[in-house]
Amino acid sequence: RESTASSPSPTPPPPPLPEHISDLIQKGVCYIEYKEINLERELGSGHFSTVWGGTWNDKQVAVKVPSGLTTGSADLVMKDLTREIEVMAALDHPHIVKLYGITHTHHFVHSLKTVMMVVMEFVEGGSLSSHLEKIKRTASTQRETTQSVLTSKKLNFIQFGFQIAEAMEYLGQNKLVHRDLATRNVLVVSPTLVKVSDFGLARQFKEDKNYYPASQSKDVPIYWFAPECLQFPQRFTNKSDVWSYGVTLWELFSLGSNPRGYLGPLIQGKPANEIFKILVEFYKMPKNRLPAVSPLPQNVYELLQHCWAFHPADRPSFTDLKDKITTLY
Ligand code: ADP
Ligand code: MG
Repeated sequence: RESTASSPSPTPPPPPLPEHISDLIQKGVCYIEYKEINLERELGSGHFSTVWGGTWNDKQVAVKVPSGLTTGSADLVMKDLTREIEVMAALDHPHIVKLYGITHTHHFVHSLKTVMMVVMEFVEGGSLSSHLEKIKRTASTQRETTQSVLTSKKLNFIQFGFQIAEAMEYLGQNKLVHRDLATRNVLVVSPTLVKVSDFGLARQFKEDKNYYPASQSKDVPIYWFAPECLQFPQRFTNKSDVWSYGVTLWELFSLGSNPRGYLGPLIQGKPANEIFKILVEFYKMPKNRLPAVSPLPQNVYELLQHCWAFHPADRPSFTDLKDKITTLY
């Protein structure tokens, strides 16, 4: 425990750092004293954590606090978070959110456990999914048609799509799969700049193989998952990320349509093999039936169908996608 300012007794030495933290420091990750950070407000939360905004030495930061620590799986949570930090620490790209370091405290959530947290670059605009919601709200108050919103935003969306493809191409070059690409995991720095974030499900694949050999310890975003990963989770490749990229572009060009919203009711209570079929059929939707706030432009629709090719080898690579998306201008 820290002594209070009025206490006459000397401050006791801090307890030794847990092993997973000293390992990360050894690997070059910056350790930040928790007391140097001032948490101010909640920025958002996901399936695995809550992210707080605050300051560290007058610098704005975002601090990711894992959830699930009060359950029996605390060790697993820390193991996953350690992997997420290792991935982030190895990345340096203009369209990937930057890691500043890690911190930890003994009494953030409850007194029994130490909590490691990720300190990263603060991104003012929040997630792309919330950015799309804002666009939709503004449009409706100004009585704009969704078609006119889409026309005015098209260039901007293509730019976002290009930047996401660049970040994903870079991940592939680093032998990484993201596995959770979705607008909720893309952050909006400015109206012309986005960064890919949330490496909580990211995995390294072996040098000579194009898949990673991990077991499935976490929930996975099935509505963004390619068919091969629904059947064989260990077959996740960059081409499976391409499928999720297609879903992300669809979210973008339909101003935040969420596949969970359409698919959730369809698959409820169904056995696994039927769920697989329903998901695969859904993405083959003809253009006029694919749920969107207004008809998708034909060339966008064609690009999506290419990303949703059943066989991974038939999908474009992120390098192809960078070229293809610029032809949509
Ligand atoms: P989870 O692994 O639980 O899904 P995320 O990393 O996706 O956690 O973060 C959850 C949410 O917190 C995001 O959707 C976004 O709204 C917000 N968020 C995350 N990182 C930042 C950041 N660096 N700056 C601003 N907001 C952030
Ligand atoms: Mg997330």
